[in-house]
Amino acid sequence: MTALNLDPAPVPVLVVGAGIMGLGIAQVAAQAGHTVLLFDMRAGVAEEARDKLGTSLQAMVAKRKFTSDDVAKILSLIVPIVTLEEAASAGLVVEAIVEQLEAKRGLFQQLESIVAPDCILATNTSSISVTAIANGLEHPTRLVGMHFFNPVPMMKLVEVVSGLRTAPAVAEAIFTLSERWGKSAVHARSTPGFIVNRIARPFYAEALALLQEQAATPVVLDACLRAAGFRMGPCELMDLIGHDTNFAVTQSVYEANFFDKRYVPSLVQREMVDGGMLGRKSGQGFYSYASVASVPVVSPRANAVLPTVKHVCLHGTGALADALQAALLHAIESSLVNSSLVRATVQYAPDSDWVGLEVAGCQLRLTDGRCATQLGKEVCVFDLPVLTQSSRAVTANSVLAWAPSGRASSAWAKQAPQWLEAMGFIPQQVADTPGLVVARTIAMLVNEAADAVHQGVCSAPAADAAMKLGVNYPAGPFEWLATLGSAPVCALLDVLDTHYRGERYRVSPGLRHSLWKN
Ligand code: NAD
Repeated sequence: MTALNLDPAPVPVLVVGAGIMGLGIAQVAAQAGHTVLLFDMRAGVAEEARDKLGTSLQAMVAKRKFTSDDVAKILSLIVPIVTLEEAASAGLVVEAIVEQLEAKRGLFQQLESIVAPDCILATNTSSISVTAIANGLEHPTRLVGMHFFNPVPMMKLVEVVSGLRTAPAVAEAIFTLSERWGKSAVHARSTPGFIVNRIARPFYAEALALLQEQAATPVVLDACLRAAGFRMGPCELMDLIGHDTNFAVTQSVYEANFFDKRYVPSLVQREMVDGGMLGRKSGQGFYSYASVASVPVVSPRANAVLPTVKHVCLHGTGALADALQAALLHAIESSLVNSSLVRATVQYAPDSDWVGLEVAGCQLRLTDGRCATQLGKEVCVFDLPVLTQSSRAVTANSVLAWAPSGRASSAWAKQAPQWLEAMGFIPQQVADTPGLVVARTIAMLVNEAADAVHQGVCSAPAADAAMKLGVNYPAGPFEWLATLGSAPVCALLDVLDTHYRGERYRVSPGLRHSLWKN
């Protein structure tokens, strides 16, 4: 193939598959001024899809998101066609048909005999190898992944996925075109799950692992991760995605990685699928959606009343110690706590190898991965209160997981959460589990991202952009890493690895290597 000129006059785009994704892609391409030829193998579906789009765009005219002229223009550019032969003029094909290798490969082979040799062939596959789809094509270098996210008009991210034989110029042309369509593009190499579906696995897997060992309830897990800045908790999100879909993606990533134990699917989720508890779509998942579709929230408790103390000592340094200090001083200054603490002095132990609070010889430590019981007698551990330097300081009424040592006195086990309350948190007791809830989840997301970069799947900035734009994470994994530091993240993962054995928590060589660079 020669020319890759998708600019300046917008080339006609053939969209194959007029389902959820195909129609969204057609809309976005038409909005960018392309004539879109829309094809679906089921007769009448392309026409129906365009009519459906017309209805939804009209509704947006009422909300002043579009003018009537905009809608007329967009619809006039979308042309349903009944045979693929009508698309010979296309300069770009975007395929959004059923997620089956043979169907996609067959379609592209057929298209090669219809479109010009310089027409770019893009697949919107979310899980199939781009390399495998291209195998057997006359010009495999022109096939590239163009992975949109649902709903296409709203979601900014496009993963531009290169297979083994994709020409770099083709990937670059699709990158540029995606940006011109108002999207943010990232390059990815064709590997299982690409970027987002790979790095996101631990967000679900850690919650499912904690549920399996009965460490916490879905309500608590969701509340903790929402408080950490995620738009939705993992359980409510899995309910929304559908457990069948989520389970299928996990299984496909697991199988595609030659059954690497790091990606083992969860028995908890399989049982839900087996039982037809698929989430919102079936009316029951972790939560019930029978009547009003709302997810329970954890509410704040009353202000704490703490025993009189002369002083408290803040241990450790770094972003999390700073956040804790800010919370404590705020609590004292705003008299959130009883007057005895207002008179107490705050001492500092910056050289301490742990972060947290010490009161009369009792410790309330930020989790470093180790269980409270492992750490000693008068010890309680709590979860991450802050995640990024800039975007999230400690917020009042943030739910926080904590756990007492199995050897702690009942007095300290009672007082420790009151200290957390005094600092503006809503403590939720979970089992004494390594890495509690947020810390282990973040560490695993960072680890997976580090592994993806280590294996050349994407760059670190691409991983950050993809997770923020593709699944609305509050920060990118490398932004968390910059805040937390490689050493604590590695140490936390090593604790998990030792505790559970198996492969799930093995530290990425890329992350381990970053230890020595700092
Ligand atoms: P969908 O079932 O809504 O639509 C698929 C459409 O393709 C159907 O209308 C079907 O009739 C048509 N079709 C199937 N085989 C065809 C063929 N050989 N030729 C022409 N038309 C054919 O599916 P969807 O959710 O829009 O997914 C489409 C693709 O996009 C899949 O590869 C999927 O993995 C990927 N994807 C989906 C999502 C999502 O959230 N739904 C997100 C990203 C990527």
